[in-house]
Amino acid sequence: MMKKSIIPSLLIIIGCSLLATVLLIKQQSQSNHTAKVYATTIHKSRPMENLQHSLTQKITVGAIGDILIHSPVYQDAFNGASYNFDPMFENVKALLEKPDVLTANQESVLGGTELGLSSYPTFNSPHSVADALAMNGVDIVSNANNHSLDKGERGIQSEAAYLNAIGLRYVGSFVDEKDRETLRIIEKNGIKLAFLSYTYGTNGIPVPKGKDYLVNLINRDHMQEEIHRAKDKADVVVVSIHWGNEYQRIPNTDQKDLARFLAGEGADIIFGSHPHVLQPMEWIDNPDGRKTFVVYSLGNFISAQYGEYKDIGGMAEVEVTKQTTEQGSSVVLSNPNFYPTFVTRNPNRDYRVVPLESAGTFGLSKAEQKYQEIQQHMVQWLR
Ligand SMILES: [Zn+2]
Repeated sequence: MMKKSIIPSLLIIIGCSLLATVLLIKQQSQSNHTAKVYATTIHKSRPMENLQHSLTQKITVGAIGDILIHSPVYQDAFNGASYNFDPMFENVKALLEKPDVLTANQESVLGGTELGLSSYPTFNSPHSVADALAMNGVDIVSNANNHSLDKGERGIQSEAAYLNAIGLRYVGSFVDEKDRETLRIIEKNGIKLAFLSYTYGTNGIPVPKGKDYLVNLINRDHMQEEIHRAKDKADVVVVSIHWGNEYQRIPNTDQKDLARFLAGEGADIIFGSHPHVLQPMEWIDNPDGRKTFVVYSLGNFISAQYGEYKDIGGMAEVEVTKQTTEQGSSVVLSNPNFYPTFVTRNPNRDYRVVPLESAGTFGLSKAEQKYQEIQQHMVQWLR
């Protein structure tokens, strides 16, 4: 996977060199005023220590919405022998590889062909969806949602086994208690991100008795405990959450309230999904001075739903800067961005996710106007 790493690395090296020079000059001038006698011995190795202990590191974190594989989508991926979803993402590969770490909401369970593929209302998708995601820049999938139990425990076990085999991380739906308790931490450029995931429910399919680990439900006590544990081990806590009302473009009061709860407990980034349409981004100011970045809904990234904004999705991205000094480290989030995408089809085949601004070349009328409208919709609450 090609990730942008050269420029940030160069900036870090230049920054460190400047910092070391400044600290060296500062210490030498201090030594003239204080204990002259010890100057040579005391200051000999300090520049190296300071070089390691005063550091600015930066990464970007991105998210895309629902990977919702209706039957026309998996039929389109079938090449006569196997299911290949790669072409569907080829027009957004560069976009998806832009953030240092990217998460997606795997809405339909990846139980594989052995369990029988199926579409709405109880989905089951080919394993190879995961290959396409991994190939195109996704680092971790969130799989706690209302379809997690569509193929029961077997679907969850099959999906997890496949994801483990190809090395694509998952969070939200687990194979056993130990799996659930294992924090998912991704480290990039010295910044540790912990990923958590929860859903409001499972479409009325009961969670098997004694197997709560199969899917993380929204439960404030449990979320609080996990956020605190994650905060202890990581610099940034990212919560993916399945919530809200389907097809509503503005979050409801429950989402707003829950976002504030998660933020207050320590969540730094909240990526919402379930409404199948985009809902705006927002900063939450916490009482302790921290800011939490929320995207209320990332919409559908790929699905066979169309019209009324259901075929428009996109990638949200935010910068994470970690400042480490001798006093400790702190993290600041900045520069949120949204990159709208559109699902083209022809009419029930050739499914492709494309950047919305260039969707005109794929037959979407008024693409530029729609792009402007979506950008405005997503940033309307940012300040
Ligand atoms: Zn859903």
